[in-house]
Formats: sequence, structure tokens, C-alpha cells
Amino acid sequence: MYAFQLHQPKSLSEVAALLADPDAQPLAGGQSLVAAMKLRLASPGSLVDLGGIPELRGIRREGDAILIGAMTRHAEVAASEEVRQAIPALAYLAGDIGDRQVRNMGTIGGSLANNDPAACYPAAVLALGATIRTSSREIAADDFFLGMYETALTHDEIISAVSFPIPRRAAYMKFINPASRFALVGVFVSQDTAGAVRVAVTGCAGCAFRATELEQALSADFSPEAAKSVRIAPGGLNSDLHASAEYRAHLIPVLAGRAVARALE
Ligand SMILES: Cc1cc2nc3c(=O)[nH]c(=O)nc-3n(C[C@H](O)[C@H](O)[C@H](O)COP(=O)(O)OP(=O)(O)OC[C@H]3O[C@@H](n4cnc5c(N)ncnc54)[C@H](O)[C@@H]3O)c2cc1C
Repeated sequence: MYAFQLHQPKSLSEVAALLADPDAQPLAGGQSLVAAMKLRLASPGSLVDLGGIPELRGIRREGDAILIGAMTRHAEVAASEEVRQAIPALAYLAGDIGDRQVRNMGTIGGSLANNDPAACYPAAVLALGATIRTSSREIAADDFFLGMYETALTHDEIISAVSFPIPRRAAYMKFINPASRFALVGVFVSQDTAGAVRVAVTGCAGCAFRATELEQALSADFSPEAAKSVRIAPGGLNSDLHASAEYRAHLIPVLAGRAVARALE
């Protein structure tokens, strides 16, 4: 590790002032950022620890949505009665992230800002049509994820919370990479209270994306059979030492079918 400054602000205005420095970067649970620094893939001059800002934590119901503060840990989302009642698929997803240590340190804001191609939360955010609240605006899920490790956030903008509309039904299925427990392929299926279906896939491209072929099939017939009958073209999907593009393309409708079956339970 090399030398850097650590700031521990106590208010959002202090955070904003510190992030005006182009060499400063927010720190959440450090689960990706500290590892990247150790590997010399990131070298911020200063870190702005968001852990001392109470407004960034917590889970509450807000009308027909669940609002989760950016600094809320995965373990807290997994254990939350509010989330388990309203969006059990989200609690399940959080409880299946990484290992116990990662779940006790990693945060929803850090996960979304990091936008790892194999992260789980981006699939939930896209499929549930969530809204990302930042220090300066609200960003619709469809406009947030731009590419590998790239989001619509500007340098000095932090995620403050995520608002998830409560769906009629939803489920997430992940085929794990057994080494990291990240998604080799993950599929989140959701049907909103008006019946509209959204399906998002993670682990298969630069970042999570919506699978329109599956959305069309499931809008006509919300059944595991309809999901499994869809054929996904492998062109453009990731191919690496863990899985070929063809294998990932095969897994997407398989997992979507399992997710629909879970959602219908
Ligand atoms: C072994 C291992 C296994 C994992 N398995 C999974 C998995 O199965 N599924 C999965 O989804 N994830 C997985 N993760 C990732 C984990 O979920 C973390 O959430 C993720 O690494 C981000 O960590 P963090 O919240 O500590 O953020 P940090 O590492 O502190 O920050 C990550 C990035 O986000 C920025 N940032 C942090 N908070 C904010 C904010 N509020 N606003 C703006 N920018 C911000 C930071 O500047 C940095 O660029 C795994 C991680 C590890 C180490």
C-alpha cells in the first residue's frame, strides 16, 4: 500500500467539500476499493470515508417503495424485516453476496458505484426499475449503468440512497463463480403491480443489462416454460476462462425460468 490521506467527515457538506478535490475518492466498506489500491489499480490521493454520515444508512418504507441508504451493508439488507416482507428477492440477493465478511462490510452504494460486471445489485436495480438518489439528483436505473465499472455518477457525486418500487413478485437466481461467489450469470425477474415484466442479467457483459427477449416472452406468459423457450444469442456476451459466451447464453433462460418459478411460489 502507498501513502494516502484518510478523511472522516461527519456531514454531507464536508463530504462535498472534500470531493471537490479531483484526487479524492469516496470510501464505503473498502471491499473493492482497498483491494484495487493494493493491486495498484487505483491510487487516490485521499479517501473520503462515508461511514460517519448517519443520513446514508438505514432502510425504510416510503409509500410503495423501499428506500435503502447507500452505506447500508449487505448483511443489513438480508436481515431487514422491511425488505423481507416487501421485496424478499432483494433480501435473498443481499444474503447471497460473497461471504460473511463481504456482507458485513460491503454496501449497496459501493456496489452500485463500483458497477462490477458480475455484481448482483445492478440486476436488481434494473429489473425493479429502482431510482438512484445522489447528492445532487435522482437517476433512473435505465440511465445509471454505462459500461464496465462506469456509471452516470460524476466525480464529486455520491449515491445517497436507492428507492426500490415494491413489485407484485420478483426473484433472483445466480449461478455462482465458486471462487469469488460473484455471478457467473445472474438473472433478476420482476413483475410490477400493473403486470409489467422486467428482466435484468448480470455477469455476462460489461455491466448488467435488460433482456428484452425474456421480457417480451414473460409479458405474454409469465411462466418458467415461456422463459426457458427463449433463445439468447451469444454474440456480444463475455467469454473468459470461467465460461464461454455460448454457455452464458444457455444459462440466461435457464436461470430466468428458475427465477420465474421462485417468483410464483
Ligand atoms: C470476495 C468478494 C466476493 C464478492 N462477491 C460478491 C457477489 O457475490 N455479488 C456482488 O454483488 N458483489 C460481490 N462482492 C462485492 C461487494 O458486494 C461490495 O459491495 C463491493 O465490493 C463494493 O464494496 P464497498 O461497498 O465496500 O465499496 P468500496 O470498495 O468502498 O467502494 C467501491 C467503489 O464505489 C465508490 N463508492 C463507494 N460508496 C459510494 C457512494 N455512496 N457514492 C459514490 N461512490 C461510492 C468508491 O469510491 C469505489 O470506487 C464481492 C467482493 C469480494 C471482495
